[in-house]
Amino acid sequence: MANTYENYIGGRWTPPRSGKHFQRENPANGETIGAFPDSGPDDVADAVSAAAQAYPRWRATPAPQRAEILFRAAEMMLARKEELSREVTVEMGKVLKEARGDVQEAIDMTYYAAGEGRRMFGQVVPSELPDKFTMAVRQPHGIVGAITPWNFPLAIPCWKLMPALIAGNTVVFKPSPYSPLSAANLLRILEEAGLPPGVVNLLFGEDDTGAALVRDPRVAMVSFTGSMEVGREIAAYCGANGKRVHLEMGGKNAIIVLGDADIDLAVEGAVWSAFGTSGQRCTAASRMIVQEGALDAFTEKLIASAETLRLGDGLDEATDVGPLVNRLQLEKVQSYIEIGRKEGAAIAVGGARAAGDGLDKGYFFQPTVFTGVRPQMRIAQEEIFGPVTDVIPVSDLEEAVSVNNDVPYGLVSSIYTRDVSVAFKAMEQITTGIVYINAGTIGAEIHLPFGGTRGTGNGHREAGTAALDSYSEWKSVYIDYSGRLQKAQIDR
Ligand code: NAD
Repeated sequence: MANTYENYIGGRWTPPRSGKHFQRENPANGETIGAFPDSGPDDVADAVSAAAQAYPRWRATPAPQRAEILFRAAEMMLARKEELSREVTVEMGKVLKEARGDVQEAIDMTYYAAGEGRRMFGQVVPSELPDKFTMAVRQPHGIVGAITPWNFPLAIPCWKLMPALIAGNTVVFKPSPYSPLSAANLLRILEEAGLPPGVVNLLFGEDDTGAALVRDPRVAMVSFTGSMEVGREIAAYCGANGKRVHLEMGGKNAIIVLGDADIDLAVEGAVWSAFGTSGQRCTAASRMIVQEGALDAFTEKLIASAETLRLGDGLDEATDVGPLVNRLQLEKVQSYIEIGRKEGAAIAVGGARAAGDGLDKGYFFQPTVFTGVRPQMRIAQEEIFGPVTDVIPVSDLEEAVSVNNDVPYGLVSSIYTRDVSVAFKAMEQITTGIVYINAGTIGAEIHLPFGGTRGTGNGHREAGTAALDSYSEWKSVYIDYSGRLQKAQIDR
């Protein structure tokens, strides 16, 4: 009998008012992993009420004291890293070594946010008038609705919750229905670490649960990571209703390989970036933009490497590539294979669902390389979110950068070249939010801003101190100790 999980509202594990739960299965083998609340509007209202009740006290708690709780949570995650990682693999399929990276990122973010409890620097500037002190300090928004995808089940929630909490907000957290185990694990840890009731509330549910959370008038800010379509819908609602909104959405990331590149290094980075997490990363490299001089050698080696990747259950340490997260994702990838074929691209390797050796029980898809791809094809413009990458030939740096930039998204780019001047020129001309030189497109570090331009975001950034700008607002404070009326701009 599978475990039944409940929502966490106001410090209590609470069944949904409807009593309804949905079942979730391991995408590698179809085994049930648990039953989770299918939360409705009443549950959303309860969770938001709990967050509203907890807010005044949490806001008034000194940030270094908030930080102590986060620090304890990070210590617990570290101590439980292995079991947390295994549950990441079981619920969404990524291989164990990547799951450990996911958990480590969550730990790093939690320590980092805890450190901000004793920093959160404001600004002190000289006043234009005598006997007057001027400064700007951060203040929280109130209740943050955090809505997350399934592909980083622990890291992305921590990227949102930890800076939101350290800044003094309370949170209602709605994880993806495809990564519920890690969400429950995180809340158990926060509870044990001493987080007061109502400061974070967990609501399991499908898309309509997220929509109801966005629409609750008491939610001051929505922080969303997921697809561009959903993000834009949320942004439209928030815009019309005066809510703060932070969006992290899709990507169509590219690796540029110039004629002078170290080809073996580039291939290694390309394989890791294109097929890691079965291509289900917002930072996955789904385009290889290759200068003609490097084209044959790079393509040949990329295909050869893709052929050697071993598919299987992510819990098996020998596995390179796990399954896709669910049937929908599998069908989406299959549909893009057809689209690519019809557009005239060639499938150099892969292109089909993987079978045999027990793979039929899961949603496995062969690592796939399309060759002869032109930049305006749909497979080179739209996010596929699977183990599929395109090889696009170009003649020089200028064309490479133009192809790189000319997509609806703007998350990550990478360039392989041995020429430092060319690398700097590319870094300047590339318009994505993240750029790598001589490294693949994945591997962001948590103390730098993370996010993208164009359809990837809305100008905010996660991680680093930039995250605090999303989860707080500036308050400017003027203290006049002159004992008389002083008029700014007039008494000069
Ligand atoms: P999704 O947009 O389908 O769902 C994301 C979350 O939003 C889920 O919790 C879902 O239940 C909820 N949701 C769906 N419809 C909603 C609505 N109308 N109102 C409120 N909430 C709603 O995305 P997904 O399939 O879970 O994740 C994959 C996507 O996430 C990809 O596009 C990927 O690129 C993106 N992603 C981006 C980043 C980044 O930092 N830029 C990181 C990881 C994933």
